[in-house]
Amino acid sequence: VKRLNLKAVHDDEIQGLLESLGLLEVVKSGHAICPHCGDVVTVENLNCIVPRGDEILLVCSKPDCIESAHPAPRQQ
Ligand SMILES: [Zn+2]
Repeated sequence: VKRLNLKAVHDDEIQGLLESLGLLEVVKSGHAICPHCGDVVTVENLNCIVPRGDEILLVCSKPDCIESAHPAPRQQ
């Protein structure tokens, strides 16, 4: 699964995508947390979906978080 940039994706498609991943309820119930800033991720502020190992990270639309979601040079 490739990282998906949702900037150009319609809300309905985002919801369909989340549903197909089994994550729509998680997002809608407010239990999706941005791994970078810790804020709740909603359909409105979801920026990208990042598969990582067995997990799927839902990253919000803050510039810092978007940046952190990109494959970056190792920092540690
Ligand atoms: Zn964030």
